[in-house]
Amino acid sequence: MSDLVREEFARLYLAALDAAEEPALAARRELWSGSEAVEKLWKICDRLLDNARRFNLTAILEPGEIVRKHVLDSLIPLALLAENGIEARTILDVGTGAGFPLLPWAAVLPENRRLTGLDSTAKKISHIRECAAYAGLNSVSGIVGRAEELACGKMREKYDLVTARAVADLPVLLELCAPFVKKGGVFAAFKARGEDEITRAKAAALILGLTEPDVFRYALPGGDARLLLLYRKTAPTPKNYPRRWAEILNHPIG
Ligand code: SAH
Repeated sequence: MSDLVREEFARLYLAALDAAEEPALAARRELWSGSEAVEKLWKICDRLLDNARRFNLTAILEPGEIVRKHVLDSLIPLALLAENGIEARTILDVGTGAGFPLLPWAAVLPENRRLTGLDSTAKKISHIRECAAYAGLNSVSGIVGRAEELACGKMREKYDLVTARAVADLPVLLELCAPFVKKGGVFAAFKARGEDEITRAKAAALILGLTEPDVFRYALPGGDARLLLLYRKTAPTPKNYPRRWAEILNHPIG
């Protein structure tokens, strides 16, 4: 256990919910501040702080900052998606790392959702599994592997919603993530900035079977600006994508 006390966490989290000036979040405040959700979120942050001492999981180690930059930056986009009628049953978080947005989503969503975290680093997936067991997140599972390899197998075109936060430049990210999305499903990219990336990723989106994105702007409590890009999948991804990692990286589509 870290020394993050439950009451202190609850105080920070509820204050951050109130400080976030996002109507979609305000509409869910009551639902997402119940004692069960708070307990789960506290346990996620407790275990994060604990494991972050042992190995590299996050550079952010101050509880208030974890709440703002990890928890709220996971929950505000979830509120925006819900507000726009996107309520996926099967969700894949590519490059989940320490579990963002995966774990906070599992803490507040109904248990009939299926949330999968994917990461190439085994230690990070061990952390995800530990957190899921500790916080009672029964809807979460973890897979170790590289996205561009797994997307060629049985996970291809299987998910209603695919997410990725802080994983790669957008043209690369689309090639890694679009193949997992079912036709009619959605890819949601979390970005700190990205207007020029959206332009550079236009060709990739078209080729991979995605529409142009809906762009949502939001701010974390305290003011940091963020973007949520929402791509809809209208056609299957051609079989020759994703390519091998070196190809994707050295010759991004477009
Ligand atoms: N989404 C988390 C972690 C971001 S760090 C957050 O926002 O906090 C990026 C993560 O993506 C790392 O954990 C890294 O191991 C993983 N990653 C990068 N490229 C990947 C790939 N091709 N396949 C699977 N995981 C990948």
